[in-house]
Amino acid sequence: KPSDVSTLPDGVPEALEAEGIAEFYPPQAEAIEAGVADGESVVASVPTASGKTLIAELAMLSAVQRGGKALYIVPLRALASEKKTEFERWEEFGIDVGVSTGNYQSDGEWLASCDIIVATSEKVDSLVRNNAPWMNDLTCVVSDEVHLVDDSGRGPTLEVTLAKLRKINRDLQVVALSATVGNADEVAEWLDAALVQSDWRPIDLKMGVHYGNAINFDDGSQREVPVGRGEKPTAALVGDALDEEVDGKRGSSLVFVNSRRNAEAAAGRLGDVTAKRLEPDEQAELEQLAQEIRDVSDTDTSDDLADCVRRGAAFHHAGLASEHRSLVEDAFRDRLIKCICATPTLAAGVNTPARRVIVRDWRRYDGEFGGMQPLDVLEVHQMMGRAGRPGLDPYGEAVLIAKDRDTMDELFERYVWAEPEAVRSKLAAEPALRTHVLATVASGFATTREGLLAFLDRTLYASQTDDDARLADVTDRVLDYLAANDFLERDGDSLQATSIGHTVSRLYLDPMSAAEIVDGLREGVESADDAVSASRRSRPSGDGEVPADADAGFASASDLVSADEGGDGDDDAGDDGDAADDGPTVTPLGLYHLVARTPDMYQLYLKSGDRQTYEEQFYERETEFLGHAPSEFDDVAFEDWLAALKTARLLEDWASELDEDTITERYGVGPGDIRGKVDTAEWLLGAAEQLATELDLGGDVVTAVRRARKRVEDGVREELLELTGVRGVGRKRARRLFEAGIQTTTELRDADKAVVLGALRGREKTAENVLRAAGRQDPSMDGVEADADASAAAG
Ligand code: ADP
Repeated sequence: KPSDVSTLPDGVPEALEAEGIAEFYPPQAEAIEAGVADGESVVASVPTASGKTLIAELAMLSAVQRGGKALYIVPLRALASEKKTEFERWEEFGIDVGVSTGNYQSDGEWLASCDIIVATSEKVDSLVRNNAPWMNDLTCVVSDEVHLVDDSGRGPTLEVTLAKLRKINRDLQVVALSATVGNADEVAEWLDAALVQSDWRPIDLKMGVHYGNAINFDDGSQREVPVGRGEKPTAALVGDALDEEVDGKRGSSLVFVNSRRNAEAAAGRLGDVTAKRLEPDEQAELEQLAQEIRDVSDTDTSDDLADCVRRGAAFHHAGLASEHRSLVEDAFRDRLIKCICATPTLAAGVNTPARRVIVRDWRRYDGEFGGMQPLDVLEVHQMMGRAGRPGLDPYGEAVLIAKDRDTMDELFERYVWAEPEAVRSKLAAEPALRTHVLATVASGFATTREGLLAFLDRTLYASQTDDDARLADVTDRVLDYLAANDFLERDGDSLQATSIGHTVSRLYLDPMSAAEIVDGLREGVESADDAVSASRRSRPSGDGEVPADADAGFASASDLVSADEGGDGDDDAGDDGDAADDGPTVTPLGLYHLVARTPDMYQLYLKSGDRQTYEEQFYERETEFLGHAPSEFDDVAFEDWLAALKTARLLEDWASELDEDTITERYGVGPGDIRGKVDTAEWLLGAAEQLATELDLGGDVVTAVRRARKRVEDGVREELLELTGVRGVGRKRARRLFEAGIQTTTELRDADKAVVLGALRGREKTAENVLRAAGRQDPSMDGVEADADASAAAG
């Protein structure tokens, strides 16, 4: 019982009991037995929804009670704020909780005063690189979803970060929470922790495969779920769960699909199934919720989500705004929303149990191996584990879908009967080591090659391999690369980061990205200088020597549309006799392309037919590229270059106010993907700005980079940048205000209320908030009529 744990702050055991934790679940009891509330390290490998979070809380709360400080590492940004909110209930016992997300560079000094800090592994890594002073005060670290060390993208960061934290404090308590994996013992050994391993679940789980007209469960039982003509099995399964009432409540479903776009599409279709089964009072509540969702932001995603929600369904993926996510999750927990279609990221964390989990897609597109690849057993089990709400359902049902008998057999073999995979370290890969070796040296964790290898010996990789030579080999190659690019200096055996190497590490860049950016910017500056001196020697004739589109250069990046039209000397390059001012070498497109080429940007790939499109654009925009384009005979490199151009064009379209729908269609991506590209571009351009400043590349370049970044950040042309600086004004609202004659913050503050209301489409509350944000003292819209002209002008 909670009251048996004597190491917790006063009042906490009673609060836990008041929450309904009368007794610990068996895995929790085992963890306490192993000393998790007494500062001992523990690896807990237990199924989803079996109370892992409480194990972590016991460790953190008792650590704080002993005068220490705890860090909770989450795998996804979206989970950070959720966990923070969860832990905030301890604030009444004097425990301060902070969350550190976003901005990689800040050193998070304010976190020094918090007792419990929640952050992603990337953020923690970055805080270590930036020498956040409070790192030394940590006594307890929780690693949530530690099995993700297996992920080749982010695993190495978690691995190295844990090694660093354990080096900073050799007595650090490490609590690692893991899904059920094949080799939890190895993870425990690596972390010198006691192992708690269990299959126990708070509610029974029936796993099965739907085929034909029934679900076939693992216990041999069947449940008839006929699929009507023209009906999809998923729809039949969602409808069937809803038609079954337990204690007067209909069963909800969680449907897992393999992409954000599929999640959105499926939610739209399943809305037809749920809408038919809503009570009138539920309909009214859902209408209200839909309005709240629309009020969060004025994006197409917001509208789409609201449309689904008013019919009782929703989609959920990492591309949603966090307010949207929590509105959806809360309403699903309250059983108002009947069905959520989600990408697998939802399976990792968010507490949204459903009576029925439907794993619709068990394959997904894999960029690395190409084509559709089956999901890991571990992942599918995590999704399935979301089924069943303790205390509400008799049991949970998790269902895969098969279209024929063979597939059904395969699915039973592959997932229902299968054991989850073992976790394997992905550290010994060059891209991972490139960045971590530089960071390890830059932040002083190693000062010699030997020291570096000794440090790497504390990783999971080292504990899993018999081949020490391999890690040393890759490390040496990486050291050579870093030295060749002036990120570090080798003097005999000793290693030291250069000044630029320190910056790259702090900026959280892959050194290869940094090298590409630096080379590209230098090239931009040089060709600008060339253009200037060329123009001094002989004035350009406008024949294309100097790019014809002056508008796209330093002087005015205001109108990218004209860049599309430029190209064949239509009017005037050089005619105004001031070619130096025109020196249009660093354009937003050039910068977007530059950052899109780096390994830190997950590129769009070329679909069939794209090659020709982008090849044409390649020649049209050739002068804007920064750096040397590969020869078109170098097939792979040239294709990469074109793929980066496609990504850059997407960013350019976004920064030219093309609407989201057109962009998603043109590039075959989802709205969340646009957000992802935009966020990455924003970060990389921010880094480029700092590198350009530090390397003294000149004010023009720095300004060009900053403008390109701000435009992509807000998704607007230059002229709207001031308005989008006002809280609550996004790209669409800014454009409508602009069309209504309001161009600056001051003009907005002093504007005619009726005009503002008209431009904001008659939404009074929005108009009031916007005016207040612009500095208006009396923003009330009482009695104001929207100006119809403004609405009309705004279209
Ligand atoms: P996990 O992190 O393992 O996926 P959670 O920590 O989210 O699981 O726990 C799932 C739910 O179980 C939470 O709502 C939590 O409050 C509840 N819970 C945890 N431990 C207990 C307990 N001992 N008794 C009752 N409910 C519990």
